[in-house]
Amino acid sequence: MNAPEYVFLITNLAGERRFASIVAKRLESLGALTHGDRRATETRDLSQFNFDNKYGREALQLTLNAVKGDDFPLVPPPADYQGDFFKDVYNAAVGIGLLKDIENMGLRLTFHLPKQNVSMAKFLNRILGLPVDLQNRLFRYFTDTLDAIISREKRLGRYDAGIQDLGTGGEVVKRIRTVTFMQKHAIGTAPVELHTFHVERGISWSQVLAKIAKLAKSDYAFYVSRSLLNNHHSVRLVVAVEPAASKETERKSDRLFFVYKPNTGLQFKKERLADLEMMNRKVGVEEAEVIWKNMFDAFLNTCAHEYWKGSCATRKVGFHCEVGMTRRTYYVLAGSVLGVWGKIEEVLKNLYFRMQVIRLKTEDNLKVIGLFMPRNYVEPLIEAFSESAEDVNYAHFIA
Ligand SMILES: [Zn+2]
Repeated sequence: MNAPEYVFLITNLAGERRFASIVAKRLESLGALTHGDRRATETRDLSQFNFDNKYGREALQLTLNAVKGDDFPLVPPPADYQGDFFKDVYNAAVGIGLLKDIENMGLRLTFHLPKQNVSMAKFLNRILGLPVDLQNRLFRYFTDTLDAIISREKRLGRYDAGIQDLGTGGEVVKRIRTVTFMQKHAIGTAPVELHTFHVERGISWSQVLAKIAKLAKSDYAFYVSRSLLNNHHSVRLVVAVEPAASKETERKSDRLFFVYKPNTGLQFKKERLADLEMMNRKVGVEEAEVIWKNMFDAFLNTCAHEYWKGSCATRKVGFHCEVGMTRRTYYVLAGSVLGVWGKIEEVLKNLYFRMQVIRLKTEDNLKVIGLFMPRNYVEPLIEAFSESAEDVNYAHFIA
């Protein structure tokens, strides 16, 4: 028997990528050979045609922002283009109904513009209406932006290729417990392991001091929220993405900063100081230290609802809530899971959730790859696996 083969045949016309994108998405959802599979070589990698994911959507937003002049472009316009690339694309995009002509509506003069939401499908569909050269250049600009986003995420160790990585982005992973079930199969036994991990993403004050010790004064700052929530201020450390090369770059208002919070560590979104200053004020190290330590300690046991609102609806009814907490617990099923797949499906049958593959590296270099399991289903899974296991072994590790 043979696995099905597919051959992608498309022209270079950018607008036609839409059809490839739809087919790629469908094939991926059917489990066809795609990204994340080591056997998939670059040319067979379908993910290059599937743009409808979080990176694709971010790239589209940034591309349209650059075209509208709302945002500093992540990627410069094509150097060999004769004329004003963004302006020409803007006019053409308005012409084909991809963008509304905000200029003529006079809205650009007002301070806040509603976001123009353009879906990936609409983008790929509408660009077919652009002249061929502009169409290909715009698509190229979009994929260049996407490449820039992906390489940024890879550099930060946060690139998600369908697998969630923990332990490589600065967070600390500790193994707490492993339950091993020896499951009998046709020709012997195979282990199924249910691991419990703690992932710590917070940043202690001593880690902050170590971080800023290596930085120039102009490249970092502390900010504290102007308002109080449940009697608490929030604090963050911002660190310039690019160190200041001169006095001039230091003052630049579009300089981007990484944002660190005591409880959740490095934030996904980078910020400009002007945006931060709307809700926060710059403080000195001494003032930041008190709030930082307070938040860091509190979020070891308190969830964000309790800390910022005074109570948590989830905890009140006796469930577990880890929102905003420094430490999160992950349950990961690894080993010979195929042999117990029927049991997994049986236990999880009432649950709607996407199977998430998770890859962890603990602080003592243990590497585990497996399936993420929701907390509420851990005990039922243990019960179900124990029924058929020849042997069940609990191993506890120090927390
Ligand atoms: Zn909560």
